[in-house]
Amino acid sequence: ATPLSITIATGKAATLGILVRSAQALETAADVDTVVLDKTGTITQGTPQLVGFDVFGAWHGREGELLALAADAERNSEHPLAAAIVRAADEGSAVAGIDAVGAGSDDGADDAAEFTAIPGRGIVATVRGHVVIVGNAELVDDHDVGMPDAAGESVDDVFASIDRHAALGHTPMLMAVDGLLAAVIAVADTVKPDSKQAIAALRARGIDVVMLTGDNQDTARAIAHDVGVDHVIAEVRPDAKADEIARLQADGHVVAMVGDGINDAPALVRANVGFAIGGGTDVAIESADITLMNGSLAGVVTAIDLAHATMRNIG
Ligand code: ADP
Ligand code: MG
Repeated sequence: ATPLSITIATGKAATLGILVRSAQALETAADVDTVVLDKTGTITQGTPQLVGFDVFGAWHGREGELLALAADAERNSEHPLAAAIVRAADEGSAVAGIDAVGAGSDDGADDAAEFTAIPGRGIVATVRGHVVIVGNAELVDDHDVGMPDAAGESVDDVFASIDRHAALGHTPMLMAVDGLLAAVIAVADTVKPDSKQAIAALRARGIDVVMLTGDNQDTARAIAHDVGVDHVIAEVRPDAKADEIARLQADGHVVAMVGDGINDAPALVRANVGFAIGGGTDVAIESADITLMNGSLAGVVTAIDLAHATMRNIG
């Protein structure tokens, strides 16, 4: 392609809210045969809501107190899952019968005294003298959490709760307090209105579409099913997303990655073409070749079509 044709295509893309950083990016976009999509904030809106709070042991009847503890533990986290828990405690949630009791105030007086975020796993915090863990099963396993023996519940009840939420596409998290399992916290994210259509359009062009996420396998599959993606790579640690891109490239694929998070940055750099969701994190935008200003996956289809048209015209 000539510099002029690429300049014209880049200008056209810009008018459509697709910011192309280099001529090379547009040229490579014409060769893409695999599009890898981050889930949270890319396929979905990225602002999950609390939809379930299943408590165990002595916490029956004290849901509000427990939610306040979870929120105060998560207050220092920047993760969207943490934000969902904090919002539910501060502004109320759709979960029946749960009103957070005594959650922290804006002055930070009730913030966690100690706080550690473990990327791709969750958080450990000390709140009002209690050690609170919120995260995935791996995190809970690492901390030797036991099952409370009150109320005749067993781990089977915990797994049943997790499975029920995951099958609905909700993200289940485990909460433990002072070494005992306390709750399954479930949040649900909404798929962006045009994700499904954009994915269908990519597949109609013969492009393989892959979902790449740190979330629970069953949750990821449920959402993938809703949007028409059949290739799911889930429970991927943040630092391993780029390795998954490299693996696809080693199989001979030309890979585009689309993401919004800090976690996605190395994968965006590694991909042949990196697309950032506008409104995503600065790190993702700086790591990408192309930014989709309106955040819609339709922009990926448009960019690839423009790339093909440009490369064809020049011949
Ligand atoms: P994603 O790819 O969806 O952004 P991450 O890799 O950030 O997911 O996190 C993977 C999993 O780790 C989450 O689904 C959740 O179970 C757990 N997790 C991560 N951060 C937190 C947090 N702040 N609070 C609770 N759980 C968390
Ligand atoms: Mg994301």
